[in-house]
Amino acid sequence: MVLLSAVVASFVLWPRDELPAVTPVSQFDYFTAAFIDRASEFRGLQSLLGVSTLLVLVAVPLGLALFWPRVANGRLWADRRTGAIAGRGGWLLAGGVGAAVYLCVMLATLPFNLAAFARSRNYGLAVQGFGSWLWDWLLAAALLAIGIALLAMLALVLLRRLGKRWWPVFGACLVLLAGTIVMFGPVTVAPLFADFESLPAGEVRTDVEELARKSGVDAGGIYVVDAAARTTGANAYVTGLGSTKRIVLYDTLLNDFSREERRQVIAHELAHAHYDDLLVGFVWFAFVAMASMLAVDLLARVFAARRGVEMTSPAAIAMLLAAATVAIALCQPFANAFSRKVEARADAYALQLTERPEDAIALERRLTVNNVSRPKPPALLNLVFGTHPTAIDRIGMAVTVERETGATAATGADR
Ligand SMILES: [Zn+2]
Repeated sequence: MVLLSAVVASFVLWPRDELPAVTPVSQFDYFTAAFIDRASEFRGLQSLLGVSTLLVLVAVPLGLALFWPRVANGRLWADRRTGAIAGRGGWLLAGGVGAAVYLCVMLATLPFNLAAFARSRNYGLAVQGFGSWLWDWLLAAALLAIGIALLAMLALVLLRRLGKRWWPVFGACLVLLAGTIVMFGPVTVAPLFADFESLPAGEVRTDVEELARKSGVDAGGIYVVDAAARTTGANAYVTGLGSTKRIVLYDTLLNDFSREERRQVIAHELAHAHYDDLLVGFVWFAFVAMASMLAVDLLARVFAARRGVEMTSPAAIAMLLAAATVAIALCQPFANAFSRKVEARADAYALQLTERPEDAIALERRLTVNNVSRPKPPALLNLVFGTHPTAIDRIGMAVTVERETGATAATGADR
């Protein structure tokens, strides 16, 4: 059901725009063999750490729900003490179960995350200190634990009030919450992790405004984030909805990139604004989340029945979390496939807007080298985890445009 909804949502929202073909090119024509080796060495183990994190992420809640007898049998300390499981205090306990399961997941994945971070430092990509990294980690863990605890409380209240009809209401709340986060996250949560400044007047701002005018896009605010405090990698993204809509550029992008490369990045981000990709992504999420809630409810009931847990007891939260992680893991490859298509469309739009495919190629080379990415990661890995087309495919699309415009220019010269 989860898969079906992901397939249906992707099919309905799938961008059907005609995109330039991807010319097959060799990575060795654009990157040195030494760099490709170094990137493979770095990203190979990073991918393995990423896959391990995902497995732990699913295994821990499943293990807790199915094999941890105290949760599984609903024999939590508080039920004997206060009778809370059946009684009024149960929702508080549900919050506790939610936060506890989540904290176990965070602690179990910490070694993998720490190893990945340490390797990023060794390769010069991460420049953040361990203390500062750990602080970010704690802050994120605390925010998410609180969020999950609140959702768990809500889930139990709804389960008790509405019985089997609880899930559409909960799904709607989830969608509403996600919308709120997309809308207000950029002005509330994001500033907790980094400093954002409005882009000052100058060459970059002029370029953004000029390209925005050319594309007829209202980009919203333009901000710079102090990414250099954490990484040498460069990036940019569009975020927010309505009045909080904005383009955010990494300061590393302003410092280390040429004007032509930067214009290419800006054009790509304007493409996302042009197609309202954030909204499209949100609709995708809303549809899949609603359908998945039914699947999560059914699966959680199967787990609960196996362990003799009442769906109105706080221990049901452990069952729900286990089912939800399975659903999320199943959705991930579909969400990523959808994202790759949306990103390819943004690339095509940027190529059309700047009419400088050679700059797009230069940018892709620099981004790949800067981020120590593999130009051509293993196909299976890209299929499951890739949120963007591979560097070599992005270059391939620019090569197609370059050949087409080159051909047009040539015919023009003939006449
Ligand atoms: Zn993008």
